[in-house]
Amino acid sequence: MSRASGDSGHGGVNIDHREIARFESQADQWWNPEGPCRSLHDINPLRAGYIAARAGVAGKSLLDVGCGGGILTEALARMGAKMTGIDMGEKPVDAAGRHAAASGLTIRYERTSPEEFARQAPASFDGVVCMELLEHVPDPQAVVHACSVLVRPGGDVFFSTLNKTLKSFVFAILGAEYILRLLPKHSHDWRRFIRPEDLSAWARASGLEPVHAVGLHYNPFRRTYALGGDLHVNYMMHFKRPSAGPTA
Ligand code: SAH
Repeated sequence: MSRASGDSGHGGVNIDHREIARFESQADQWWNPEGPCRSLHDINPLRAGYIAARAGVAGKSLLDVGCGGGILTEALARMGAKMTGIDMGEKPVDAAGRHAAASGLTIRYERTSPEEFARQAPASFDGVVCMELLEHVPDPQAVVHACSVLVRPGGDVFFSTLNKTLKSFVFAILGAEYILRLLPKHSHDWRRFIRPEDLSAWARASGLEPVHAVGLHYNPFRRTYALGGDLHVNYMMHFKRPSAGPTA
């Protein structure tokens, strides 16, 4: 029997347990800016700024899908969003909850999958952000579909991931994991990287409209990131769920 891509979360099918275990093992270091999540800390102001500039954040109800320890979730909460974060890792979600409480932030965290949450809370959020998750799941299209279900009509969806190019192999695997050691070895599997045209096609198939794409460029000498037009390594994409028409 054929299966719709959005159904693959049943019974936790769309989960790579080795990936979850790796993130569980890093959870107590999640908020260490020099630890294994260092690059997430370094890119955070840029990605939060991108989301705020494109969609507005203050006063919005936003969902962070695959939120991990809450680095982006907290940044968006500080900018005035009402935040919910979901993740399949128990320890990352615990670390996120503890850190938010210690920071005096009110954020709802839940350990669940995007697909399961989409069944519980369709069309519930003004915006959905899903950063650095798609390249860690067996069926990323199902996660894209879940995000399209979770956002309300007229809302915004943001993804970030790694492109599947020779350049991304050289920079994101060889450079980041083996030469500069920005990331622990085996953080990424190049075969799971995603071309922007595939991400766009999956999003369109779920009714989302691509609006904008931007590259995230790392300067290893200055240890800084900048936004730019080159999507060959790390990139973010902004989609919109069309508003319901007057007769819809
Ligand atoms: N989005 C966060 C964390 C990225 S790390 C950030 O950018 O700061 C990837 C996260 O995805 C980890 O916390 C991991 O536990 C989670 N994850 C991996 N597979 C998942 C799945 N199938 N469903 C939900 N979360 C998943």
